Amino acid sequence: MNTNAPLREALARDELLFAPEWTLLPTGPKTGWGVCVRGGRFADVGPLAEVMARAPTLAPLTLPLTMLMPGFVDAHHHLTQSFGKALAFGEPSEIFRRIWVPLEGSLDPHSLYLSVKLASLEALRGGYTTVCDAGVRSSHGLEAIAAATREAGIRCVPSFVCNDDGTAHDATLAAAERFLAQASPGWHPSLAISIPEAATDAMLGAASALAAEAGTVLQVHVNEHLASVERSLVARSLRPLQHLHASRALGPQALLAHCTMLTPAEMLLLRDHDAAVSINPVASPWKGNAVAPTELLAALGVRLGLGTDGTRSDGFRMMDAAESNQRLGYGMASGDAVCGGGRLWLTMATAGGAEAAGLGRVTGRVETGLSADFLLLDLDVPELTPSWDLGWELVRLASRDQVISVHVEGQMRLWQGWPVDWDARAMMAEVRTVAQQSVTRAPIHKVHQLP
Ligand SMILES: [Zn+2]
Repeated sequence: MNTNAPLREALARDELLFAPEWTLLPTGPKTGWGVCVRGGRFADVGPLAEVMARAPTLAPLTLPLTMLMPGFVDAHHHLTQSFGKALAFGEPSEIFRRIWVPLEGSLDPHSLYLSVKLASLEALRGGYTTVCDAGVRSSHGLEAIAAATREAGIRCVPSFVCNDDGTAHDATLAAAERFLAQASPGWHPSLAISIPEAATDAMLGAASALAAEAGTVLQVHVNEHLASVERSLVARSLRPLQHLHASRALGPQALLAHCTMLTPAEMLLLRDHDAAVSINPVASPWKGNAVAPTELLAALGVRLGLGTDGTRSDGFRMMDAAESNQRLGYGMASGDAVCGGGRLWLTMATAGGAEAAGLGRVTGRVETGLSADFLLLDLDVPELTPSWDLGWELVRLASRDQVISVHVEGQMRLWQGWPVDWDARAMMAEVRTVAQQSVTRAPIHKVHQLP
């Protein structure tokens, strides 16, 4: 790990010309590129000599055996569930009923804030610079998410939950509209409906239309596990994704979490309506019944990101899990030893996730004009020595321990895994006490007792 104090000092400057040995571009890792960061943006990205010529007053910051890469985008998170962790281990599907709803119900405004700050820190440490939150159940949750993500310095796509039973249609939509009007740098409001059955058909269509009009996304959990598919069939004679389609809620504004259990016709629905999917590769083995047919969806042209679903926030392990899932679920049976070849998973974890979250013109790529959301990665490690295919090696061999620094909107937020402007260990000490009290208060019901 690079412990260079002058580098840390240099990274605090507002204007920088990076000359890393490697830069991760949408086309893959490249050598010999220069990246100029100014005013929180990638002001210039190109061959180093050209970038230097356009910025003659800036001395290049030469970074041998270092990669500058886009920060990861978590396309599906639950920021207020970070106190739960192993409480959900071993539980069958529909954990929200027995663990998450009771836990979130026991959180007061301060413990909600701590929960989100902890989740934000975990995300930044795992290389994430953007998190999409799929909707909080507590009324104080949105304020907690706003305060804690701002202080931690992570870009956030929060969502206003539009679940309804038809009695407050207009009031819910009016509140949603007010929420969407609160966009600011680093804060990109969206809408959510937990699952299709949690809202009326009228609300599904209206919320989707409102999200489209506002240029944001409507986040919905769809076809996650057998329990949810069968419940939808019993209630509506439609599978969840068919239900969304029947309610006119599908479109480019739809960001659908999971989609692990899809019929061929449903895959075509996703493609034909240009809907985006957050593939959640750790959630599948931890609490699902199936693995999403990711490579097939990608081949069909479905827009894909990767999400943690609050399981664990490590961008490298997430990509590794995605590739392994694909291999175990599909590649081995069909003799497909390539399974995306590394590039698919890197793209989904960065540019794909940003695009799925409606932020394709904001973040996700090292490209002139986009927000300077990036990581510096130490490549001087035995695991990447020698290196033959750096893109695939990032998926299979790299680790968050290699992250030297994390930058959001050009500002350094972490240096060697820890915040540069707030005391993370003091926050964690408080979390240990507060989480104990919250969990003791919560009527959590674990159905699977550990042996
Ligand atoms: Zn979820």
